[in-house]
Amino acid sequence: MTPSQNDTGGQGLYRVAGHIQPCGWLLVLDADADAVLGASANLIDLTHLSMSEVLNASLAQILGRRLAQTLKREIQGRSRMSAPLAFTRKLAESALRAQVSAHRRGDRIVVEIEPRRSQGQRRLMGEVNEWLRSIGETDSIDALLDTLVEGVGHLTGHDRVLVCRFDADRHGKIIAEHCADGVSSLHGQHFPASDFPARARRLFDESPVRSVPDVQAVPVEVLTRETERHSQRDDLNASVLRAVSPEQVGYQVHIGVGAMLSIAIRGQHGLWGLLVGHGLGAVPLAPAVREAARVLVQMASQRLFLLNARQEARYLHRVQDSRDLLTRERQRLSSPEALVRRHGAEWLLLFRAQGVALLHDGALLGFGEVPAHGDLVDLVTRLEAEHVHDGPWYSAALTSHAFAQGLALDGVCGLLAVPLRLNPGRRDWLLLFRPEQIETLYWAVSPGRLRQQQRREPVLDQPLPGRHSAWREEVSGRSIAWERIERVAAVDLGEDLALAASVHEVDRLNARLRQEQLALGEANRRLEQLAHFDNLTGVWNRYRVEQAIDVELGAAERYGRVFALLLFDADHFKRINDRFGHEMGDHVLSVLSQGVSQSLRSCDHLGRWGGEEFVVLATETNREAAIGLAERLRRLIASLVIEGLSQMITVSIGVALWQPGDSRKTLVKRADQAMYRAKSEGRDRVYLADSDEATGPTPAASS
Ligand code: GH3
Ligand code: MG
Ligand code: MG
Repeated sequence: MTPSQNDTGGQGLYRVAGHIQPCGWLLVLDADADAVLGASANLIDLTHLSMSEVLNASLAQILGRRLAQTLKREIQGRSRMSAPLAFTRKLAESALRAQVSAHRRGDRIVVEIEPRRSQGQRRLMGEVNEWLRSIGETDSIDALLDTLVEGVGHLTGHDRVLVCRFDADRHGKIIAEHCADGVSSLHGQHFPASDFPARARRLFDESPVRSVPDVQAVPVEVLTRETERHSQRDDLNASVLRAVSPEQVGYQVHIGVGAMLSIAIRGQHGLWGLLVGHGLGAVPLAPAVREAARVLVQMASQRLFLLNARQEARYLHRVQDSRDLLTRERQRLSSPEALVRRHGAEWLLLFRAQGVALLHDGALLGFGEVPAHGDLVDLVTRLEAEHVHDGPWYSAALTSHAFAQGLALDGVCGLLAVPLRLNPGRRDWLLLFRPEQIETLYWAVSPGRLRQQQRREPVLDQPLPGRHSAWREEVSGRSIAWERIERVAAVDLGEDLALAASVHEVDRLNARLRQEQLALGEANRRLEQLAHFDNLTGVWNRYRVEQAIDVELGAAERYGRVFALLLFDADHFKRINDRFGHEMGDHVLSVLSQGVSQSLRSCDHLGRWGGEEFVVLATETNREAAIGLAERLRRLIASLVIEGLSQMITVSIGVALWQPGDSRKTLVKRADQAMYRAKSEGRDRVYLADSDEATGPTPAASS
């Protein structure tokens, strides 16, 4: 605005440095709060001084010495006075009760003077306390906001008090409202983000309260001397009195609002929402009432975030339950496939999703409604290239992303994708899908803006007096948004899944290792079998018997532990083969060795020496015991009854006792000689080597 020239006091030229609403008075002071550099034009009513006198006065001359001194003291070293100062001034016939407050802007001090209403301060305090108590007793966010709007409406007398919450796109939605009788409701309607430009949002950082008691009131100029070095307009952004821009006035008038109060609701991440009061006409607002509303909003904000935190904690509790189940499954070593199958339904509920998919080890496991396999693989491949860092990727409008173009996503609009690091260099993915959510939005905004946007159509073309028109918009191509807490929970779940998958993988590798070890053991056993046992009879083979003989020879040599070697050969075995066939011969050898080995002590051993010739190695055995054993075996064999064999089997046995200096060869040779002696003496008998000692067939057997 070009500086307009003004001669309010009739004695000089002034420059307009800004505007205020006419419900108060404003002074601009130098940094020491001595000189008046600027003043609102209505100050001549309050001071009975001319404008030029005001602009040449000291603060003491305007406010009185005592009040000016207190103000100077209160603003010294501070950016804002902690509390306003109350004072009374005689004005015309009556006494004006007013308050003064001050704050610094750059190298200046802005002083605001506002009338106080006569409403009993004590009664107001009582009411505020009642509402604070009610707010403190609410147990849900809805109840809290309902109480807040009702309380503020009650205190301020606005016709409509609402809470507008900003979404991720900074559109505002009316989520709570209190209306006086006959006032139209805006509940559920939206204000577009364009109604809250960054500049307007920043102003709420500077002063959380914006009060316009009368939208239609004619603004008052703030004047400075023409010679004042500041060529810029004074910065009144933090002033509660600052005037409303003509645009804003147009906007308020358009939506049928005659008075407006906005109070910022601040969250951890900036402006969470606004409490807004609307009056159909002017609503005079005493500073104390405005302050009371601010206190209510502040208390409600704190409780809101407490309840919010509780709600999140409850949600996280549900998530934790699900994670606990998963941990238990981990101990059961379930595969990721099994986990998805078993828990998929529960995850869909938890994440308000229609489908979940796990890309693990190159395989895709889906649960619920997920895009077709090929498109899903393409989606992940493109996502892999698109999203390089390790945090989750998410969108409520998947199809609007370039990398998703050309994929058939089967109505999926929301995707929350959590990369899982299981192996270096390879990422697995947990994918949650949400369907399209076709939503009807009602916008409570000026039609000019709306008509430029094609898809929005007016519901009511002619706003009714005191009523709002709303414009309806069908929003498609989007899912419900992924909330921060849901993203946190999905990352946790992803970590659990990755852990379960790696535990399962380790177990799988272990199982394979165990299997390989078993196979190796079996092979070793087979090798040993082949190396040490006779294939036909299952008793030791000659190689193994020779080893055992060598061990016994060593023990006998060293400790004098005597032992015996029995060598026996089936009598006329050729005839058995000839008469009954070779297979019967094999069977006979098998039955014979089983019978013998079962009758031996565990410290004695039977081995096949070759053909139908066997050896028994009898440890810790002296002469008598050896002969006794041989005779027992001879009789045992002669008594064997073999099905299909109509004759008895006999053996001739040679027994050799260990003698000092024996080698395997000498020992076996003596046993062999004794055995041949038994053959030549008539078979079916036992001969002791180096003696004529012999036992023969019992009369029954030989008969
Ligand atoms: P002797 O009483 O003098 O020992 O007479 P013999 O017939 O048993 O003696 P000989 O050495 O002439 O024949 C041994 C026979 O044993 C020859 C062979 O056919 C048979 N024989 C050797 N090993 C096996 C075998 O593994 N299975 C079968 N069925 N016969 C075998
Ligand atoms: Mg023989
Ligand atoms: Mg033989």
